[in-house]
Amino acid sequence: MADAIAEQLPARMLNEFAYCPRLFYLEYVQQEWAHNVDTLEGRFVHRCVDKPQGDLPDASSPEDKIKEAKIQEDKILEDKIHARSVTLGSERLGAIARIDLIESDGGKLVPVDYKRGSPPDRDRVPEGAYEPDLVQLCLQGLLLRENGYDSDYGIIYFAETRTRVRIEFTEELIARTLRLLEEARRVAQSGQIPPPLVASPKCPRCSLVGICLPDETNLLRETESEAPVRRLVPARDDKLPVYVQGHGHQIGLNGEVLEIRTKGEVIATARLIEVSHLCLFGNVQLSAQALREIVARDAIIIHLSYGGWLVAVTTPPPSKNIELRRRQFQAASEDETCLHLARAFVAGKIRNSRTLLRRNARAPVEAALHRLAALRRRAETAGSLATLLGVEGTAAREYFANFSKMFRSDGETSAPAFDFESRNRRPPRDPINAL
Ligand code: SF4
Repeated sequence: MADAIAEQLPARMLNEFAYCPRLFYLEYVQQEWAHNVDTLEGRFVHRCVDKPQGDLPDASSPEDKIKEAKIQEDKILEDKIHARSVTLGSERLGAIARIDLIESDGGKLVPVDYKRGSPPDRDRVPEGAYEPDLVQLCLQGLLLRENGYDSDYGIIYFAETRTRVRIEFTEELIARTLRLLEEARRVAQSGQIPPPLVASPKCPRCSLVGICLPDETNLLRETESEAPVRRLVPARDDKLPVYVQGHGHQIGLNGEVLEIRTKGEVIATARLIEVSHLCLFGNVQLSAQALREIVARDAIIIHLSYGGWLVAVTTPPPSKNIELRRRQFQAASEDETCLHLARAFVAGKIRNSRTLLRRNARAPVEAALHRLAALRRRAETAGSLATLLGVEGTAAREYFANFSKMFRSDGETSAPAFDFESRNRRPPRDPINAL
């Protein structure tokens, strides 16, 4: 966290802070990130302006500028500068920005910031753009000034409607920008994540809603809001694991597709977009290109022996959220916290087992349901981890003793009967244990 705060604060983060201080903290301090359709569209809009191109005129000091003013002015007016993706910082402001495009206008520089979508309705937003975009652009203008250039206004370019909205750097906007910059720095240094917004229309469009959990967090914080918890709609994950089992198989990458070959012949393919993780049994060779692409998509690779023993796991780099990691270690070292969490996990597991039996059993299971309900209550009040382990084991035995009642009997299907009695493995001795 200290490193992040010592750095110059990016103008993009000031935009996030103006949108929601908690979003800023999650991204800037805790380094959390998730894409949604808006962020992906934004990245698409920036694909051209993100390639650095062109130079700014020299303006290393005000004196130099005065001396060369005439030359520069002539040059600027002549060549109309179009520099793309220019990074400027200022130690005095403690800020940095990558400016999408810089244009010139009568010897003054104009930062142009690309945004997806269309400009807001002038009747509702007379400034022509929302505050987060205004302060981000204004900070870019201030950084140009700090680096010796004149800049009185900027442009927000809305890609969907191809509209340029001119934003004047008024005294009022500059004061608001500097005040927010100061506040953002203070929040980052506080070490305390700001609370979520309450029933805000911003949350459903926020890409970090699945990490922030605004309504759920507010409910647990017992805010005075009467707003009901809105349903969280997680991104649909249609991915599936890919299992590769066979001596000498090779996995390579062909565009967006994994190709599994043996003796030079492709025997199976899997589209990367549909792969949740890759399980390699035995001596399966994986190309460096395929490995890099799989972990770049946050999927893991599980290496197993030919008989299914776990050998190693290749994972993407771990999360940079140090605060979360610290809290997890702290919780793990506190017996009372461990017991509190473990009770909730085991009680939840027993509740799920009971629900599955209640919904799917094809034979009477009332007695088992009563026993599972009683075990769930005991799990919620268990006085020690040892007691909890015992309750969990008893509940698992109860569940698996009735497990086969959830399958069709021989008379209903031509498939082999499930004669499950207990858990066994390596090798599994019945079809259910082989699942
Ligand atoms: S979900 Fe809402 S409260 Fe949470 S970070 Fe996003 S905008 Fe802020």
